[in-house]
Amino acid sequence: MIFYNNKLDHRLCDYGIEIPLVKSRSERCFQYLKDKYPQLKETDCSDLSPLSKSDLLLAHKEEYIDSLLSENPDEELIKCFELRDQKGNWYRYNPANAKKPLIKLRDEILLQGMASFETMEKALSDGLYYFLGGGMHHAMSFGGRGFCLVNDIIIGIRKLQKMNKIQNAWVVDVDAHKGCGTAELTQDDDSIRTLSLHMGKGWPLDSDKYDEKGRLNPWFLESTIDRPIYSGEEPDYNTFLLESLNSLEKQFHKPGLVVIVNGSDPYEKDELPSTSHLNLSLAQLLERDTLLYEWFKSRNVPQAYLMSGGYGDCSWEVYAQFLETLLEK
Ligand SMILES: [Zn+2]
Repeated sequence: MIFYNNKLDHRLCDYGIEIPLVKSRSERCFQYLKDKYPQLKETDCSDLSPLSKSDLLLAHKEEYIDSLLSENPDEELIKCFELRDQKGNWYRYNPANAKKPLIKLRDEILLQGMASFETMEKALSDGLYYFLGGGMHHAMSFGGRGFCLVNDIIIGIRKLQKMNKIQNAWVVDVDAHKGCGTAELTQDDDSIRTLSLHMGKGWPLDSDKYDEKGRLNPWFLESTIDRPIYSGEEPDYNTFLLESLNSLEKQFHKPGLVVIVNGSDPYEKDELPSTSHLNLSLAQLLERDTLLYEWFKSRNVPQAYLMSGGYGDCSWEVYAQFLETLLEK
């Protein structure tokens, strides 16, 4: 039920990147669960291969993929993780502290992307599978963005469609930030419906809506249903979530799979400054995750969960409490 392997738990600090994606987020969650359930085992990843070029082309433009798969993909990673400020100086990045080159981070992320796909595939047979990783929902057709290098969500779904294992899918995104890459990638794809509950203010919605030529910036493209949440609306969060799920169900077919982009960054103890507009308690987050689980289970929809955003020392608690309730069942 849980896909976890220490090798896939990449540590940004090893690359000199100073984003508070604490190195042990997945590990702490897994260790906590393992202490209670000693039968839990790490997933064997010895046969796991990275996403291939043809996999990546299911979501991304060839020009981007060629650059990403080249021998020097550093620039793509620097853009994606926002490691340079407007003046061209390093930002949140100290190459002198790096133990590994950025190209290794690319390789780890491509391996993680394949784990997201395998999680979705396992969800089809087991009913539910949870990957302690993945969920790179900001990655757009033309490049990585917002710490998300490739959109493993859409790649995984389209791989399953290509294999004729599913016809259609929903993506339910409860990360604090709008699932803008996923929305962009599915603008013309009626086989994937997207729901995003996110902060009504802040990144990525705090930049200009239109570019200098008057075109809508792609991170404003709409999901099938977007439900912005504003500061102070936290007590109604789960009501909004339920209303949005019911609304999707009224309009569209039952999906062959739901991918839950299960970010923990709406947590009040999250440490990334850009998540400060949404502050759910641990109890509200458990209610959120239980609501999602019960809603899809009662409709017999296979559920694949990806970890997505969650920053700082406490983010592991959000995942651990939900997985603990699932393991109790
Ligand atoms: Zn986020």
